[in-house]
Amino acid sequence: MKATKYVYSFEEADGRNKQRFGGKGAGLAEMTRIGLPVPPGFVITTEACQEYYANGRKLPKGLMREVEEHIKRLEKKTGKFFGKPESPLFVSVRSGSAISMPGMMDTILNLGLNDGVVQGLAKATQNGRFAYDAYRRLIQLFGKVAMGLDDTDFDVILREAKKRSGAKLDTELQSKTLVGICQDYKRVIKKELGREFPQNPLKQLEIAIEAVFGSWMGKRAVDYRKEFKITPDMANGTAVNVCTMVFGNMGSDSATGVAFTRDPGTGENVLFGEYLVNAQGEDVVAGIRTPKPVLQMKDEMPEQYKELEKVRHILEKHFHEVQDFEFTIERGKLYILQTRNGKMNAAALVKTSRDMVKEKLLTKEEALLRITPDHLEQLLHRRIDQKAEVKPLAQGIPASPGAAHGKVVFDADQAERRGMLGENVILVREETKPEDIHGFFRARAILTSRGGKTSHAAVVARGMGKPCVVGCEEIAIDERNKMATVNGHRLVEGDVITVDGATGCVYEGEVPTVEPEFGPDLKTTLKWADEVRTLGVRANADTHKDAAMARKLGAEGIGLCRTERMFNAADRLPIVREMILADTAKERQEAIDKLLPMQKSDFKKILSRMQGLPVTIRLLDPPLHEFLPSVESLVWEIERLREVKKSLQQIETIPDSFKVIIEPTLQKYVPPIKHVLGELSQIKEKELFDELLQKKEDILRKVRETSEVNPMLGHRGVRLGIKYPEIYKMQIQAVLEASAELIKEGIDILPEIMVPQVCTAQELKQVHKWMDEIRGIVEKKYGICVLFQFGTMIEVVRACMRAGKLAEVTNFFSFGTNDLTQATFSFSREDAEKKFLPLYNEMQILMDNPFEILDIKGVGRLMKITMEWGKRSNPKLKVGICGEHGGNPRSVEFCHTLGLDYVSCSPYRVPVARLTAAQAKLRETRRDKTELEDPDYPFNVFF
Ligand code: PEP
Ligand code: MG
Repeated sequence: MKATKYVYSFEEADGRNKQRFGGKGAGLAEMTRIGLPVPPGFVITTEACQEYYANGRKLPKGLMREVEEHIKRLEKKTGKFFGKPESPLFVSVRSGSAISMPGMMDTILNLGLNDGVVQGLAKATQNGRFAYDAYRRLIQLFGKVAMGLDDTDFDVILREAKKRSGAKLDTELQSKTLVGICQDYKRVIKKELGREFPQNPLKQLEIAIEAVFGSWMGKRAVDYRKEFKITPDMANGTAVNVCTMVFGNMGSDSATGVAFTRDPGTGENVLFGEYLVNAQGEDVVAGIRTPKPVLQMKDEMPEQYKELEKVRHILEKHFHEVQDFEFTIERGKLYILQTRNGKMNAAALVKTSRDMVKEKLLTKEEALLRITPDHLEQLLHRRIDQKAEVKPLAQGIPASPGAAHGKVVFDADQAERRGMLGENVILVREETKPEDIHGFFRARAILTSRGGKTSHAAVVARGMGKPCVVGCEEIAIDERNKMATVNGHRLVEGDVITVDGATGCVYEGEVPTVEPEFGPDLKTTLKWADEVRTLGVRANADTHKDAAMARKLGAEGIGLCRTERMFNAADRLPIVREMILADTAKERQEAIDKLLPMQKSDFKKILSRMQGLPVTIRLLDPPLHEFLPSVESLVWEIERLREVKKSLQQIETIPDSFKVIIEPTLQKYVPPIKHVLGELSQIKEKELFDELLQKKEDILRKVRETSEVNPMLGHRGVRLGIKYPEIYKMQIQAVLEASAELIKEGIDILPEIMVPQVCTAQELKQVHKWMDEIRGIVEKKYGICVLFQFGTMIEVVRACMRAGKLAEVTNFFSFGTNDLTQATFSFSREDAEKKFLPLYNEMQILMDNPFEILDIKGVGRLMKITMEWGKRSNPKLKVGICGEHGGNPRSVEFCHTLGLDYVSCSPYRVPVARLTAAQAKLRETRRDKTELEDPDYPFNVFF
């Protein structure tokens, strides 16, 4: 059997195989292949690393023999020799896995130096300072990385030596001092480990290779992979890159630096970077000396600058991507030591995408695939300026992205009042309720101390595109006294805070933020996305303002208009309450009659804003008690009213009491008290308190009557419509009349009526019957024909199972995956997220939060079956999704592969959905057919 080959020279390695050679090794191999000046070297594969762990942390058999072989080749190529004082060979040993993990694993430089070689080097270079500085760096790094020593002893030695010789910088140390430092360092190793610093370069190399492999499972690297969800199929083990050392610290004709082929902050097409003359790479990273901008090289090292410019173009032409590369100039000769794809900020990524397509370095498709949804998101919201050095006061759950500062207010009325006066306010509450909605309109951000990502505050703020942090438990809010305490710090109304809905952080005072950038580069990129994608993108929008925003951001319709949000408006809520609390059908109808014109006007505005595009209007869904005050607040108010009434009665007795107390000083207070009593008697006469008490008690009784043990599974959705037909009938009438009036005005509209929470076709048939009746009346009244689509939400498991029957009576299905996920798992989202989901994720019982990322194997499978059965009985059936997953990139990709007609998400996620839908299409086109049968194919619902 042929022995496994573990070691490849840069010429031999396959630069496209990052899995095997790691990103760094692959980059070095590619650069060598295209003739860039890379110092000779070789790569040990990631398979050797896997083997190392399989063998119980032992290097694979034969590996060191191969390594020796390659060292010999290096010696031949360079004319330098391992351990030979007159012409010594030095190498760097660096880690590098398929996915870049900056700073997570280990690097050793100057390997090959020992007591003999250092003397030879000093002689050959006539630079003792240089030679002993290199040696002390090796001993320190080797001691720390390969032998596992703590740095502190080395640091103390260096610091003391500097102090003794009066040197401020490391570079001011004389060679004699450095000789002493090297000796002291070696003594530390002997003392701490009972072993000598190894003098044999090959032994040094062996230990270093083991150390690099070992660092793959070091805490830092393991935590990093966990944090960034780097799984073994993405990167399995590290390669080891052994490269001939070149020195940037050999005098004023030597330098070292890091550069980007374009500016990673702006995307501008210029060489960007920093360098240091007479320095080694780690000096740039360590920040001991301040590097100069690379542009300065134009004057200081013009030849090398010209070469760097050439390298920049060669790199981009070859890699078709902005590169981040390291270089060293040794006595005037330029070497490139590493290259990788440059990490850029969002604006730069989008600008370079557009530019590189123009420059024919990228195709439009490639340009689309290199922008991540996260980057796009950064561009769509105001965010904290990264330059601001601030520490958060507290951190909660990030619920709606964006950053804003403003004065703290503790109730919605204040938010409205102060907001209307033009003040920037942040609404801070324990939790919000539908009646706080007017405060949302005026607040710049919302902060709550309770609740999760689906709490009222989170859902409403997301819909409005306002920054929101929820569940910020560190803040104790005292709403009655209008104050809060956070980690011993007091906040009162009017104090300024900044809320960052992207991270969940809350800051004291005004933290600088930067504007979102929806500029021409982004617009062009999204236009390309629209040309590619086949999946439609709609928005969830409840108001005409949301609708306008959705349209601006590229939505092709509204996939969900939640009509309950209209009921929450400050002018509607009292009427809605009248409707709920009505004792008779007549009373209820009176309230409904008041709501009709309001709903009609809402629908007219939304439909006309979306002219030419479909608008799905959902009939009322949530349980009615959501529109009523809570039992606790009512009980509290009733108690206060009773107390006040009692106090008033007690005041009435004061004048008589004063009279019986024979104390002249008190008598002068009798007239003013009597005066006050006179004023108060009006209240008594009008029986204001009694009436108010009666009203509140009535409400409390009704609230108790309507309250349910499990409201989310209780009297809501179509069940509510069936029990109180007046409500659904009014809503249908409002949609149809609004449509008729717009048609008459010549506006092109595409209304769709959708029924929530359906579990049987019988429910749909009942609603359809009312619709036919009302349509007849409306068409007669306006003398025109009103066309619309009729559909159902699919958010109940039984609805999935009866999809064929439901499809017979509908034009479309819309998956409500918020409820469908709860129903499939039998998890209540709020409880699951608070109580056990984080643990489930940590233990990898569930890989993701299914309320954020669609659960493909369970909910996804149900969706697939539902679609198939639905389309079988109604081939023209349109199918979309309007749960929150409609804006989640992975879920959007799944919806594409499933063949949905559209996704619908919050307006502010529309650009993300447009991009990811295009990426899904592109990836599908590139996907190998056999992959679809692979059990590990992530979108395969059947494995
Ligand atoms: C859903 O359940 O996914 C849905 C969109 O409805 P809601 O979130 O309003 O319950
Ligand atoms: Mg729902």
